[in-house]
Amino acid sequence: MIERSVVVRVHDGLHARPATQFVKLAKSFASEVEIRCNGRGASAKSAVKLMLLGVKENDEATLRAEGTDAADAVSALATFLQTPDAGDIDLAAPAAPTAAKAPTAAPDMGHAGERGVAASEGTAIGPAFAFFPAALDIRPRTVALGEMEAERLRYTQALASTVHSFREAKARPSLKRDDAAIIDALVEVAEDAEFIGAVETGIRAGRDAPSAVQEAGRTIAASFEALADPYLRARAEDIRSVTRAIILALLDMVDATLADMPKGSVIIADEIAALDLAKATLADIGGIVCRKGAATSHVAIMARAHGIPAVLGFPADPARMKAARTIGLDGASGEVVLDPDSETAARLRGAIAREAEQRTALDAYRAVEPTTRDGRRIEIAANLGSLAEIETARQAGAMGVGLFRTEFLFMERRALPGEDEQSETYTALAKAFAPHPVVIRTLDIGGDKPVAGIDFEHEDNPFLGWRGVRMCLERPDVFKPQLRALLRASVVGNVKILLPMIADVGEVRAVRALIDECRAELDAAGHAHGAFELGVMIETPAAVFVADEIAGEVDFFSVGTNDLTQYVMAADRLNPRVAKLNRTEHPAVLAAIRMAARAAREAGIWIGVCGEAAARPDLIPFFVENGVSELSMSPASIPRAKKCVTEI
Ligand code: PEP
Ligand code: MG
Repeated sequence: MIERSVVVRVHDGLHARPATQFVKLAKSFASEVEIRCNGRGASAKSAVKLMLLGVKENDEATLRAEGTDAADAVSALATFLQTPDAGDIDLAAPAAPTAAKAPTAAPDMGHAGERGVAASEGTAIGPAFAFFPAALDIRPRTVALGEMEAERLRYTQALASTVHSFREAKARPSLKRDDAAIIDALVEVAEDAEFIGAVETGIRAGRDAPSAVQEAGRTIAASFEALADPYLRARAEDIRSVTRAIILALLDMVDATLADMPKGSVIIADEIAALDLAKATLADIGGIVCRKGAATSHVAIMARAHGIPAVLGFPADPARMKAARTIGLDGASGEVVLDPDSETAARLRGAIAREAEQRTALDAYRAVEPTTRDGRRIEIAANLGSLAEIETARQAGAMGVGLFRTEFLFMERRALPGEDEQSETYTALAKAFAPHPVVIRTLDIGGDKPVAGIDFEHEDNPFLGWRGVRMCLERPDVFKPQLRALLRASVVGNVKILLPMIADVGEVRAVRALIDECRAELDAAGHAHGAFELGVMIETPAAVFVADEIAGEVDFFSVGTNDLTQYVMAADRLNPRVAKLNRTEHPAVLAAIRMAARAAREAGIWIGVCGEAAARPDLIPFFVENGVSELSMSPASIPRAKKCVTEI
């Protein structure tokens, strides 16, 4: 037996990705290898056991191998454990950007359909694509002794076909960043000896295969959920995905996936996670209708960014929605028609044709840098969530970026992005739009959008909870790498930093102090950094009331009308039942915006608007008259906003 102890240097320990690679390496040797840490041991060839061992960076681990190639195995695995970036893999390139379909004015629908929340303008009609994850209908039955081998075989075949479909998914050329690593981790879990053993034990105890898989998956997922480390706790999700996939194969069922959607379809769903949508070919989506969500849900923001007509919060019975073959919708009025008759269908097609004409007419405004009739120049910038949207924004005529939501950089992955990666992303963004400014918002995330690596406890009111700058100030380990990355990207010269959820001037001062620390750290590390303007979102009523005081501490304001409206009106932006109250044009919200604009004017700083209302033709004159000099919006709305400005 060969034995060797090492201090683990793998960054963040053996969480999913490094564990998967460690197991792969171990399996390339014939010897049995055990790894021991913190008084417990596990086979180095079982990813599940390895992850449950919870090996962290700086832990001492002992490798023990027995077999013909034991010395080589221990040596290779020890080297792995001592390599900080051992878990890194080649990431697939981000997907190519899709062309935007610019939205246009509301069509005349004539025959009234039912109504949901108008979430993204434009008319659509197309075949329904039902995106409802199937409910698993497991009917447990007792398997007799004589049937057990057949049941075990059934499971083995379902497992093989699941692994095969995972591998096929991995081979898809459109596979996005991090997804390959996620699929590897899923395959590893599916084929794990621990998981297989638990299922086979269940079958031997008389359970049918689907019940045995469900039981084994539940038990292993629960073991992960009980771990303290948030990276490892998130593995429970992998176990659940694999469990579901194998059970689906056993029951001969297939899950809906947006990847299978025929071009031009209208997606109907209960809800669509932003990540599901991100995985679809956006240019193929004709429209979206969801039972949940509202105008400022992230799916709505993404739909607007890509000019996809969408109605959310549509209160229809799911069975009726699923039965519909054709869906018509008007994303400006919120109307949805299930199976439109020929007259309604013709009217919808007429509206689509008119919208296309209006889009063509607006094309002339793409390159315009608009001024009002009395000569005031207004910047029309884009709201972006990823580098993949840069080209869409440039084609739409964006004069820079008024809001880069960095949360997508943190959400589309299984571990926090590092400082170098963030710096590269922000630098690429700044370069793409230079000399126009890019306003990058620091992480704005809360318990409603969990991120691997940040431990959010359950909150009854996540919108009033530990989110945005509140969370960042208490987690300098998360915040400072982002601030340092932003300082490094500022060398390009056009970066501005925007702080979300500010409610008190003390928060701005605390961020400034952290920025000073970050500068000193970058100097010590020999990294170049630049100067940037620092601004705050005006999105809490508190920020409005103390706007005078805050204006003295910052370089600019950016009004987040989505949150400002929900907080001023006390109407949840995601709740379709109170959508009627969630109106930015309400006098109370306009009064708040006027107050913030006055404070900016008196302090001599600039003010922009980056909430969804920035694109509204009915509100643009109000913003401009109150001194707003930048309007930032979904790229698809840019040409129309430019036209509006020239008419003021
Ligand atoms: C807003 O609140 O208006 C805003 C722009 O931010 P988000 O929609 O990302 O909360
Ligand atoms: Mg906001």
